[in-house]
Amino acid sequence: MSCNGCRVLRKGCSESCILRPCLQWIESPEAQGHATVFVAKFFGRAGLMSFISSVPESQRPDLFQSLLFEACGRTVNPVNGAVGLLWTGNWNICQAAVETVLRGGTLRPINEVLGDLHHHHLQERLQKDQLLHLIKNQ
Ligand SMILES: [Zn+2]
Repeated sequence: MSCNGCRVLRKGCSESCILRPCLQWIESPEAQGHATVFVAKFFGRAGLMSFISSVPESQRPDLFQSLLFEACGRTVNPVNGAVGLLWTGNWNICQAAVETVLRGGTLRPINEVLGDLHHHHLQERLQKDQLLHLIKNQ
């Protein structure tokens, strides 16, 4: 039976499939499929397979997870990526992006969502925006 990764990529799967073990940390079959589609689209199917093959088997689930976070972080934060979200104390945004992808949702860049905010002012500006929202509601 095909693994959920090969199933969504419509490729042959076997007992020695390199994708299958990468997905085991993801609970539902649907979420495994969503994650695979997203990562394969971001890095390219050949690129993904090449990344996976380049590390020892025991490290492949970690590699896949980190590729997923990287792809999600880069999508929501195009300039500074997942690392930028980590540095600016916005890692929760990256986690939320990953959860969105696992649920089968689509991601939009933060800039589009919040307007033209500069990354390192994000937290500060968010607080101001929340404040503004409160003031407006009074
Ligand atoms: Zn497979």
